[in-house]
Amino acid sequence: AVRGAAMETVPGPARARFIVVGGGVAGVTCTEQLAGQFPADEILLITASPLIKAVLNFRQVSKTLEEFEVEERPSHILEEHYPNVKVVQSAVRALDAAKHKLHTEEGKEYIYENLCICTGARPKLIVKNNPFVLGIRDTDSAKEFQSRLAKAKRITVIGNGGIALELVYEVEGCEVIWAIKDKAIGNNFFDAGAAEFLIPQLKADKPRAIPPCKRTKYTTEGLEQEKKSLSEDGEHGSALGPDWHEGMKLKGTKQISHRVHVEYQCEIDKIYLQDDFVSTQKTSLAFPENGSEERKRNADEESWPVYVQLTNGKVYGSDLIVSATGVTPNIEPFITNNPLDVAEDGGLKVDEQMHTSIPDIFAAGDVCTVSWEPRALWQQMRLWTQARQMGYYAAKCIAAEMLGESIELDFCFESFAHVTKFFNYKVVLLAKYNGQGLGTDHELLLRCTRGQEYVKTVMQNGRMKGAVLIGETDLEETFENLILNQMDLSAYGENLLDPNIDIEDYFD
Ligand code: FAD
Repeated sequence: AVRGAAMETVPGPARARFIVVGGGVAGVTCTEQLAGQFPADEILLITASPLIKAVLNFRQVSKTLEEFEVEERPSHILEEHYPNVKVVQSAVRALDAAKHKLHTEEGKEYIYENLCICTGARPKLIVKNNPFVLGIRDTDSAKEFQSRLAKAKRITVIGNGGIALELVYEVEGCEVIWAIKDKAIGNNFFDAGAAEFLIPQLKADKPRAIPPCKRTKYTTEGLEQEKKSLSEDGEHGSALGPDWHEGMKLKGTKQISHRVHVEYQCEIDKIYLQDDFVSTQKTSLAFPENGSEERKRNADEESWPVYVQLTNGKVYGSDLIVSATGVTPNIEPFITNNPLDVAEDGGLKVDEQMHTSIPDIFAAGDVCTVSWEPRALWQQMRLWTQARQMGYYAAKCIAAEMLGESIELDFCFESFAHVTKFFNYKVVLLAKYNGQGLGTDHELLLRCTRGQEYVKTVMQNGRMKGAVLIGETDLEETFENLILNQMDLSAYGENLLDPNIDIEDYFD
């Protein structure tokens, strides 16, 4: 030791009773809830993204249906609202569960008593490190997509989930080749009948005048500094909410509205860059003209930066490929060296109290996979509604454990409910809306008025197990009640959907 030299004090790790990781809907909801329940404790929210997600205008539409808006905000707004919340903008690099310690990218350490992991999920990319393949997940990737689309004449969209559905409908001024592995579009959300109902919307011109978004939109523009630290891996942003494309011009270079061609039951076989494609001497197909027969399809005369060969043998060129084939939970920093149970879909397994397999560690939102026996009419889907519900319920579970109380599974996990918009129609999905897990002994009742509404109920032993409602049907509350109370409806048979019978009078 050198006598007289100044003693350096190395700051020890920061400590908090509660640490939440992830500033998406799940993490922010959990933080707010904990902050309210434990006003004397500091709640630390560690998040990689410069903006956090706030839930606004929450409305319980019916017993299980809820609606709200999501706004991206600078984190100081959360701190101002909850003086006992501190937001640290940094990515968690590692967890040492035995020591209750988190390490961040900045080299800082944090010791928690209770940890809630809400790090969301990221898009599965069909191929990595291909500059022409893009996944859409957060504000930055959506913006990048927008600017690349502005120069594009044709894009290829791979995937059949909610993001792909929205994307193909929203994109204008650009040809879209849409490759899906199923027999019908939107397989996760509805059946072939509903898909048939929606398909004409892809051919019709989109209604103009999108109402202006009244909410303040915060952007990351003033936050270039923060963004720089993220741009290297691009994997840490929050997942976007349902109105991610609102106010965002998704327009290509062509003077056309919709031009979507769907290739069914196929996946990507190969992707070629222009030079590689030329050397294969294969032929790519021109965009199919409306009504052109399959066998009369022409070879494409244009050359494109990237080509996809589909498993059905067809080859298409385009400016860009959007990979929208589902998500992978962001679990890596936590599972390394810690015995956390991971589900088959890559999520952290949680029990009925949102515990992971390690004491004092909870998880919520897209990052987790429910491993309790779900109630008969509920299933997990990685949606923002469930992210909010789980964040809220996880905070309740943490609080109950702190106070030595037990807590019952929240009512929101009794029956699945989701309301959204696809192709400009209101879409309500209730319980086992696609007959999920019901085996073969269920039947469907249908009512459809082209261009107006599509109503489907899933029936088993005379009971309603699920429903899909597209359009302004006004049936959601009645059907929700019938699903929740499992009333025997056999006596009504097909009359249940007879538009001349006001079923609400019977059942409300
Ligand atoms: P996220 O919102 O992904 O938040 C995760 C947070 O964790 C982020 O803040 C991130 O920065 C942070 N993070 C990640 N890793 C780390 C780390 N190592 N250290 C620190 N922080 C970290 N759902 C619907 O219900 N309806 C829709 O219409 C809909 N449309 C969508 C459209 C798009 C384009 C996308 C991408 C998703 C859509 N979703 C939709 C899904 C919905 O956005 C997600 O289910 C929901 O946002 C999940 O919330 P979350 O809080 O679990 O995760």
